Amino acid sequence: MEEKIYDVLIIGSGPSALTSAIYTSRGGASTICIGGENWGGQLMLTTLVENFPGFPDGIQGPDLMQAMRKQAERFGTDFIQKNASKLNFKVKPYEVEDNSGVLYKAKTIIISTGALTLWLNVPGERELIGRGVATCAPCDAPFYKEKVVAVVGGGDSAMEEANVLTKYASKVYLIHRRNEFRASKIMQDKIFSNNKVEIIWNTEVKKIKGENKVESLLLINNLNNKPRELMVDGVFVAIGHKPDSDIFKDIIDMNEKGYIKTTNDTQAKYKTMTNIKGVFVSGDVVDPKYKQAITAAGMGCMAALDVLEYLENES
Ligand code: NAP
Repeated sequence: MEEKIYDVLIIGSGPSALTSAIYTSRGGASTICIGGENWGGQLMLTTLVENFPGFPDGIQGPDLMQAMRKQAERFGTDFIQKNASKLNFKVKPYEVEDNSGVLYKAKTIIISTGALTLWLNVPGERELIGRGVATCAPCDAPFYKEKVVAVVGGGDSAMEEANVLTKYASKVYLIHRRNEFRASKIMQDKIFSNNKVEIIWNTEVKKIKGENKVESLLLINNLNNKPRELMVDGVFVAIGHKPDSDIFKDIIDMNEKGYIKTTNDTQAKYKTMTNIKGVFVSGDVVDPKYKQAITAAGMGCMAALDVLEYLENES
């Protein structure tokens, strides 16, 4: 059987990847999406998305991702629920192998691997993951019915986690290292008006304690250095994300934080192209600032349009 060479291979399956897939497959380019075993990106770990245009009453994150995937598949995208594990961008067509050893070849690549959860890196955290240490309230909140939990962070994610947890837990401590949140006002207002939430300002978690499950947190007030032990049944870490770019290290140009660089020059013909010709990038793996589903989707569209033009002119 003749081996298939796709026009475009997309790595990732969040809003950026799937928007690219919709555009490239609808645009007539044969498209394969290596979507990952846990496909769908961060919206799979959230509940109601209220700010994605087109859904006046909001939409559940996983429903939005299912709809995007279905839309991409309707136009002919081949969707592979495996992780990309080996890459060879030195040959043409480019080669990507998945974690079951299947090799795929493509004339162009779009990297849309998104971002990974950041951890506190304190003693007890790693050991107690899944036993009281968590990062996804919509997934795990029902385990904390009538229990006491803490959320760490001061951004929108922390507000969202705390808010979801109050539907189950008897009390939610929100621990933040400064004396003001960086979250949007609407999210902060929800927290300030929720009487199940107690905010602990200017405080850092130094240790997560517990034998087989989380029992307490060792906190330090960073204004007066006073320690405090807080008894909790669980702790949700919501301190942001880092670009999921490790497999591209030493292959593609990235900055010191791991965000992949584009040609990013107003004169550049293909704004979403990396330092390797024919390899494009979009979404949270390239964006340290906006990090929204809609901005990721917008960049996914840009990458797809760049790819379609590139295929027409240069491949
Ligand atoms: P974020 O905005 O980067 O906020 C991270 C928070 O964690 C900050 O408050 C930060 O403190 C704190 N933090 C970071 N490292 C820490 C550490 N080592 N120890 C203690 N605290 C630490 O991340 P995010 O909340 O995940 O949000 C990311 C993006 O997604 C944002 O653009 C946000 O608007 C968006 N988002 C939107 C929604 C929504 O609209 N529904 C929901 C979730 C996320 P400092 O403030 O002191 O830096």
